[in-house]
Amino acid sequence: MALLERSEWYDIARRTEWTPGYVSDDELYPEGHSGDYDIPGEAWSTYDEPYKISYREYVDIQRQKDAGAYSVKAALERMDLRSKVDPGWISTLKLHYGAVSVVEYNAGLMESRFVRWARSPGMRNMGTFGMLDEIRHAQLQLFFPHEYVPTDRQFDWAHSGMKSNNWGIIAGRHFFDDMMMTRDAVSTSILLNFAFETGFTNLQFIGLSSDAANAGDFSFSKLIQSIQSDEARHAQIGTPMLAMMIENGEKERAQRLVDVAFWRSWKLFTILTGIPMDYYIPLDKREGSFKEFMQEWIVTQFVNSLEDLGLAKPWYWDIFLADIDEHHHGQQLGTWSWRPTLWFSPAAGVGPDERDWLEEKYPGWNDTFGKCWDAIIENLKRGDIGRTVPGTLPIICNMSNIPIRRTTRWSTTGGSTTSARSPIAGSSSRTRSATPPTKRSLIACSPARSSPPTSAVCCSTWASACSATAVATPTTTSGCPPTSRVPTRRRRTDRWQHSHSR
Ligand code: MN
Ligand code: MN
Repeated sequence: MALLERSEWYDIARRTEWTPGYVSDDELYPEGHSGDYDIPGEAWSTYDEPYKISYREYVDIQRQKDAGAYSVKAALERMDLRSKVDPGWISTLKLHYGAVSVVEYNAGLMESRFVRWARSPGMRNMGTFGMLDEIRHAQLQLFFPHEYVPTDRQFDWAHSGMKSNNWGIIAGRHFFDDMMMTRDAVSTSILLNFAFETGFTNLQFIGLSSDAANAGDFSFSKLIQSIQSDEARHAQIGTPMLAMMIENGEKERAQRLVDVAFWRSWKLFTILTGIPMDYYIPLDKREGSFKEFMQEWIVTQFVNSLEDLGLAKPWYWDIFLADIDEHHHGQQLGTWSWRPTLWFSPAAGVGPDERDWLEEKYPGWNDTFGKCWDAIIENLKRGDIGRTVPGTLPIICNMSNIPIRRTTRWSTTGGSTTSARSPIAGSSSRTRSATPPTKRSLIACSPARSSPPTSAVCCSTWASACSATAVATPTTTSGCPPTSRVPTRRRRTDRWQHSHSR
């Protein structure tokens, strides 16, 4: 008997759109779960997923992907990779697993909510495959690091991290709870699938995959490729929904969802991807700078997909573009300084060759962030480790839950110079800026004297990290988009009561 082509039966098979007989439509699809957007009943069935696959095809492909990833891991297990690769790569692995593994399982819950609550049959179908994808990702990323746990307990954070109150984990969990776990199906598909997965997951997974291969970690590279191929499919769940919203007069609300998700994702990825790419990955293994990845994947590709849909760039775009040059450098200073509070041992990544690379990729780095590192290096050379660990807490953004920071360059500050307590001089042979840090910059970076953040403003710096080293930090100014347009969150008081495992 001749078989039908998939395209001949797919539309009928996935449209299990029964007319409910004993519950009302509102009971079947409550607003809070399904979304209360003004899209008329019949319009929901026009959702047209760009990626069509049958269950039989799906299972076959996924089985092959799993076989590929697990067999590469099995083949390389005896290599004892952990003792052979650069410590910076190990830091990258631990940061990734601690922040990502269990989140994949939560993403499975998110997709399962689409399966039940999405009003479009096509979206429910995509959600079913997406749910299975995410369960697979969680299993892979819990299983792979488990191999290292007997010799290095920090890898246990793949499993335990998300249940802890570590400050970095709180930031990630808050992000995913907001974007992925607590909103209706329509909003979530735009926040998470469109903005986060289309825009940012690529950065982490494509960037890290090639870095892993360069670093000699082929099992991680294969793992990441295997996951990314799923993400590329279910990331498309949000795009037809955006098109439907725009068609049905909901463009403004769609734009706002994109704006919110993009900003939140950006802040998280400065730490998750920005720091490893520019500081942890061994210099000779780097594929490109974080900024270059951002420019290719976000500035070019994500903006293209926004414009294809008729949406605008987020309203804070200029602030974001300036942030690409700077934000993660400040977070690296901070995470390294607060290293006793992390579940991985962060590499500093600021040897002479690394600094040349940073200066080339981010002109002006030596004159700004480099000055803070000069002081840290000087203190380390004197054996004064205590002055490289801050005695105070940073200001934490109420929304992003990460330390607040931003710089302006020395050249923009002007004014008289004060470097009285700075031990910089002679600390290295690097060329320094002709313009030393100014008084204004010292005042501005003091949390006590700068205007207190009244709401979700990412506006100061890891100032206390630098003051602990008795050196001026880059000037700080208000760095987040104007506050009135960003939702505020209640400040948590327990974020520093983290557990610390080594
Ligand atoms: Mn996933
Ligand atoms: Mn996903």
